[in-house]
Amino acid sequence: VSSAELTAAHVKAAEAAQGPLNCFTVIDPDHALGMAKASDARRAKGEAGVLEGVPLVIKDLFAVKGVETTASSNILKGFKPEYESSVTQNLWNAGAVMVAKSSMDEFAMGSSNETAATGPVVNPWRATGSTEKLVPGGSSGGSVAALSAGIGYGATGTDTGGSIRQPAAFTGLVGVKPTYGRCSRWGVVAFASSLDHPGAFGKTVRDSALLTQTMAGHDPKDSTSYPGAVPDMLGACDKPVKGLRIGVPKEYRMDGMPGEIDTLWAKGVEWLKAQGCEIVDISLPMTKYALPAYYIIAPAEASSNLARYDGMRYGLRVEGEDLIDTYEKTRAAGFGKEVQRRILIGTYVLSAGYYDAYYVKALKVRRRIYEDFQAAFEKVDAILTPTTPSAAFGIGSKSKADPIEMYLNDIFTVTANIAGIPAMSVPAGLDKAGLPLGLQVITRALDEETMFSVAAAIE
Ligand code: GLN
Repeated sequence: VSSAELTAAHVKAAEAAQGPLNCFTVIDPDHALGMAKASDARRAKGEAGVLEGVPLVIKDLFAVKGVETTASSNILKGFKPEYESSVTQNLWNAGAVMVAKSSMDEFAMGSSNETAATGPVVNPWRATGSTEKLVPGGSSGGSVAALSAGIGYGATGTDTGGSIRQPAAFTGLVGVKPTYGRCSRWGVVAFASSLDHPGAFGKTVRDSALLTQTMAGHDPKDSTSYPGAVPDMLGACDKPVKGLRIGVPKEYRMDGMPGEIDTLWAKGVEWLKAQGCEIVDISLPMTKYALPAYYIIAPAEASSNLARYDGMRYGLRVEGEDLIDTYEKTRAAGFGKEVQRRILIGTYVLSAGYYDAYYVKALKVRRRIYEDFQAAFEKVDAILTPTTPSAAFGIGSKSKADPIEMYLNDIFTVTANIAGIPAMSVPAGLDKAGLPLGLQVITRALDEETMFSVAAAIE
């Protein structure tokens, strides 16, 4: 088939899915078909790239030139960037085609995709025999809902505390968070700059490897971009894992964790053992401080990054009596509750009287968490854990409770963001209710190859 035919079919499927799943912020058939026709023209000239004509779904956090980019927030309503994010540019350079932009938690703050200005996204998965609508996870919930419903062959996401790995686990997909700096943050709407990692979703480990290595690469426009070469992640999927040492951290065995998660973890260990891996019990003693440190550092950086939305530069403006009043009215109307909560927390922990007590303390904990991993990687080549403490939950079931309950979802994922090291989620089976669960593989900084080898061995 031509790229135009394939893209038209995916756009049609996206339009049909939007009613039941609410997973897109923009479906622009003309834009998609324009890209597809350009792809067909390149193919006709024999110029095909590695992703030539492949339809992808792009999280609404990535600036796409000329296409509305809102981070699922009212404050960016109508904002059409004049520039392209480096990651999406790398994908287009390889021939990929954008089908649609996907919904997300507002400014990527959340674990359920219930905070999007356009309303909750619905997970295509249901528990056996149940009609209850489930969350797809978040914040990259639109990307996974679309991909697991068969729209696109891959998708982009961002992961600040788990937003790629947790939604992947909730929808039976592969989700990759590479090393910090591997994928450029340029043109990605900022949440918490030192923790933000662009990454990829695929239906298979190999698809996600190809996507990640295509998105990656040094970018002079991002000062934290890693300057070295991108490893052959796809090739690494075929490397045997025999002889690798796999760490199982005891601190990830949490009280009150459903027995099924434990069983799944034990299965993962058995699969790797059967392929010749050596299993090593390890300890990451600072794990219990990771969530508190994350929920200080991330809001602190967010409060600073989000100061730019003042009604003057982008998107929404609500006119007030004077300049200050306009700022206040715009920000009150434009930001949702969770975003306002983060700005308040962040401003508080950075304020003169509390900076040392909270922010500086959290930075010290961050260092210790990194050192925990350093010490562990002296003994092992990769670490295996569950991705989440539960399967997908009902829409409204956690968002109405205490916000802390939602934050607890990130318990196994935030540590890798704090340390900046690669981590991915691989589908590992279904629970008793028939819902997907994931296993997480974590490796040393810049060692995505070992991560993909282990993930491919589990798949
Ligand atoms: N759930 C976490 C939060 O709300 C992580 C979100 C993310 O990774 N973008 O901050």
